[in-house]
Amino acid sequence: MNKLDFIKPDRNPGHKPGLPFNVLVFLLATSFIFLAGQAGAVERRTVEARTGDVFEIRYRQLQPGEPLIIYWARPVSENAGIFIGGSSYWLKKDGHEPKFLLLGLDVMTRPGELTLELELWSGGQLEEKLAVSLEITGREFPRKKLTVDQKYVTPPREMLARIKRESELLAMVYSTSSQDWLAEGPFVLPCEGNLYPNFGQQRVYNNVPRSVHTGVDIAVPAGHPIKATNSGRVVLASDLYYSGKTVIIDHGLGLFSSYSHLSKLLVRRGEMVKTGQVVGLAGSTGLSTGPHLHWAVRVYEARIDPLSLIELGF
Ligand SMILES: [Zn+2]
Repeated sequence: MNKLDFIKPDRNPGHKPGLPFNVLVFLLATSFIFLAGQAGAVERRTVEARTGDVFEIRYRQLQPGEPLIIYWARPVSENAGIFIGGSSYWLKKDGHEPKFLLLGLDVMTRPGELTLELELWSGGQLEEKLAVSLEITGREFPRKKLTVDQKYVTPPREMLARIKRESELLAMVYSTSSQDWLAEGPFVLPCEGNLYPNFGQQRVYNNVPRSVHTGVDIAVPAGHPIKATNSGRVVLASDLYYSGKTVIIDHGLGLFSSYSHLSKLLVRRGEMVKTGQVVGLAGSTGLSTGPHLHWAVRVYEARIDPLSLIELGF
C-alpha cells in the first residue's frame, strides 16, 4: 500500500486549546475491529462516592490515541466537577442528558500517571472530593517506510501561506464544539471497503520520519458515497492543501469526525446531518496517491483512533 495522505507537519505549535485530554464515546462491533489488533473488552471502572454518586469510567485501553468516557452513572449530588489534565468540567444533576464527559488521550500522549479528580457539590457545599489515578501505558505504533516524490514531503514555497492559513483554520474549527451531544445512537463506519487499521502509524518518508498517521484509511473507488459516522453539524466543508476536499462534523462535547480526499463535497458548513447521510464522494484530492477515504476523529485537539467510537458504548 503506497498511500500518502494527510502528511501533517506540526500544526500551529503555538496553539494551546487548553485541553490536552479531551473527551467522548461508542458501540457497534464489526469485524474490522479485529483487524485493528485492538479488539478486546471495553474496560469499565466504577467509582462510588459516600454521597451515593456513582461514576463509570469506560475505555478500551489507557493508551495514546484512546478516548475515555466518564459517565455520571448515578447522580445524587447537585453538581459534579471533573478535573483532569489542567481542565475542568461541570455536570449538573438537573442539566443536560446524557451525563458524561469525553476525554481524548492524544496519539502523542506520554505514558505516566494521570489523576482524575471528582468533586461533588450540593447546596453550595463541597460534599466529597475523590481522586482516581489512571496509569497511561506506552504503545508501540508500527512504522511504515515510504519512498515518494520529494514534493509530497516538502511543500512548494508558494503553498506555505495557504498551508499556514489552513492550519489556523483547522485549529479554530477544533477549538469550539457544541455543548449539546448531537450524536444519536451508535457510530457507524463511513463506508464499506478494505479498512487499514493504520492509526498511529509512524511514517518515514524517503528515510526521514515525518509524521504520524492520525486516522484510518478505507480503500474505496472514486465516486463511492461517504457517510456521516453519526449525527452532527458540519463545521467545515472545504478543499484543503493536505487533505483535499474535506468534511468535518461536530458531534458535540468536543467530538469531531473528518472525511478527507473526497472528489465531491455534498454538504455545506452549518448544515445538520444524520447518521449515514452521504456527505461527499470518495476521491484522491489533496496529497493522496490513490482513491481512498481518510477517516479521522478528534476530541477537541486530541487525535484518537476512529475505530474506538465503534467499539465503545454510551
Ligand atoms: Zn490516511
